[in-house]
Amino acid sequence: MGIQFNESSKIKQTTGMEVGKQHFFKCSSCDKPLIDIIVNYPKVDTEWNVAVECCYCGGQSYEQIIRGMFIVGTNDEVKLSDIDYNSDPIIVRTIKAKS
Ligand SMILES: [Zn+2]
Repeated sequence: MGIQFNESSKIKQTTGMEVGKQHFFKCSSCDKPLIDIIVNYPKVDTEWNVAVECCYCGGQSYEQIIRGMFIVGTNDEVKLSDIDYNSDPIIVRTIKAKS
């Protein structure tokens, strides 16, 4: 579906890609910050209902509606594991980064 993740997204962000809304996800159970989702093609007419699975407690974030094509932004502590597009909401799974 033309969705890019992680490394490729960084390249695109430095080459003049339009960046739209940024959505922050944190766990609704343990309140830890998880990943964020950055809309990189806000004019694409798609809508995703997204929830993020917590790599700390196995809980889940609250669902958020994402409009447009998006990329997943990770950080030093939380990495992207995989994304299940076949569920509703779409489930973004995370793993703890190895220190
Ligand atoms: Zn949690």
